[in-house]
Amino acid sequence: MNICSLSLRSDLLIKYFKLKNKIMSILGSGKGLGLGGGRGRNKGGAFGVGGYCVCAKCGEKLPHQQGIKCTTIKCPACGTTMIREELLKK
Ligand SMILES: [Zn+2]
Repeated sequence: MNICSLSLRSDLLIKYFKLKNKIMSILGSGKGLGLGGGRGRNKGGAFGVGGYCVCAKCGEKLPHQQGIKCTTIKCPACGTTMIREELLKK
């Protein structure tokens, strides 16, 4: 009986931690946007999150900006919709 309830608890604990991690990551990103502290951090954040937007047609490459989807950006060279570099590689 003891063992049974113990394994059940550890299972719940794992679920709890997974949920907590999810919430923390959501809160963490929300906090960063809300506070908007340190303008200098913006560059570092964009570099970490972003990667690049690439034009599938002509290969033009732009650094991805946080909060702006690549698919909303048009290639400055040929006007084609940009796509995430990761998606293009796959
Ligand atoms: Zn292009």
